[in-house]
Amino acid sequence: MKKIFLLAVVAVLAVIVVRALQFAPPETMASAKAAPSTPAASTWNADELAEGLASAVRFPTVSNADFSLVNRQAFADFQQFLAQRFPLVFSQLKPQRIKDDTLLLTWEGSDASAQPIILLSHQDVVPVIPGTEAEWTYPPFAGVVADGYIWGRGTADDKAGVMGILEAAERALQEGYMPPRKIYFAFGHDEEVGGAGAIAVAELLEARGERLAFLLDEGGIIAKDMIPGLNARVALIGPGEKGYVSLELSARGDGGHSSMPPRHSAAGVIARAVKRLEDHPFPADLGLTVEFFQFLGNELSFFQKVLLANEWLFGPLIEKIMSQIPALNAGMRTTTAVTMLQGSVKDNVLPITASAVVNFRILPGETIATVIDQVKAIIDDEQVSVAEYGFGSNPSQLSSTDSVGFKVLADVIQDVDPAVIVTPRLVVAATDARHFDKVSDASFRFMGVELGPRELKGIHGTDERVSVASYAQAVDIYYRLILRAGEL
Ligand SMILES: [Zn+2]
Repeated sequence: MKKIFLLAVVAVLAVIVVRALQFAPPETMASAKAAPSTPAASTWNADELAEGLASAVRFPTVSNADFSLVNRQAFADFQQFLAQRFPLVFSQLKPQRIKDDTLLLTWEGSDASAQPIILLSHQDVVPVIPGTEAEWTYPPFAGVVADGYIWGRGTADDKAGVMGILEAAERALQEGYMPPRKIYFAFGHDEEVGGAGAIAVAELLEARGERLAFLLDEGGIIAKDMIPGLNARVALIGPGEKGYVSLELSARGDGGHSSMPPRHSAAGVIARAVKRLEDHPFPADLGLTVEFFQFLGNELSFFQKVLLANEWLFGPLIEKIMSQIPALNAGMRTTTAVTMLQGSVKDNVLPITASAVVNFRILPGETIATVIDQVKAIIDDEQVSVAEYGFGSNPSQLSSTDSVGFKVLADVIQDVDPAVIVTPRLVVAATDARHFDKVSDASFRFMGVELGPRELKGIHGTDERVSVASYAQAVDIYYRLILRAGEL
């Protein structure tokens, strides 16, 4: 009996260790890297590229949820600048204005029967919070190149994408490249306020009966100093993005004087509902997070591998550890954030109504409807009504990291910078890519600029900037991807 027990322990230990040793990026990643189709190393004039991006920043293409307040002249001027800087693209790729100021370019390919691909980016930028202009090292719309960086609103989000794609295409055209399949470029004018432009482009493609083999949008970056203890730079490719919904919980009371209160006022009822929601987080799905770490494989300690490779045994422990880290928690479950609370208007008046607004970021696989059902079940209180508050969007579908599109993109990134580790990472913010789910077979979110903690703060914040060297890398990635369009 003792012997059998000992054998069982040894067997379990063996499984744990073998699985840990095998915890590495999929084999296929390595074979994709050896593909012979990789174009020869390309050289770029980084200073010239930087000047181009700096010029793009000088057009204050700020979007606004109220379209009548948008400075459309800035968009017209920006597009005129693009046409001047990229004469081959704008003479050969049939520029089309869709839905106000969104720009669609169509690059016909040699094989009309092949499924097209699309590269997305957006022209619009978020405003600078009035009163904070002086906090910028260089004025937000001056477009300054200094200290090895391109400074200004939109450098990272997302004019590096617009300019990078066009620089790459202009060069490929100069070199006489004819893509083997049709390539679309679409640059929205209102991504930051909902993406009506992108929706219109997706509808146009759907109406034409087009199905995209591959889509690339913003959302992932090359992260520097992101994971404590990990020195490597990591290319985060988003195979999907979370959804968004806010729910308003409300309860009614009788109101009246607070000197003779009921056992629970409407505010108390709402407080109880809020507590139940915070105490019952949505179920975790470790799949994506474990995959993220699997691609980091060789960078992890043996102990980390033992844990992550044996989800069958350590699942609850992994979940417990990761739930404590907000950045990881956000990648594995629908998150619950109580953001607004309202009760009575005066301290000695009982509330007639009380309410709370809770913001949820929805994990792919769930929907706004399933979140509402779950919330009602958790609150379990007939006095509390639940209603959608403001805008909402369902999560995107998840594209496979096993797909050829993911592998080619990963391969291109590592050709440009062999030291970078590539890994899939769910995007927790929204991008235009989600609007194309109906017409795309594989959608990924990535732009090849390298951002550290300081640069990440600049996105939608102060001192947005991108390093000159990393912008040149981003352009090179677009360029090589375009040259390999036939493989996607
Ligand atoms: Zn953006």
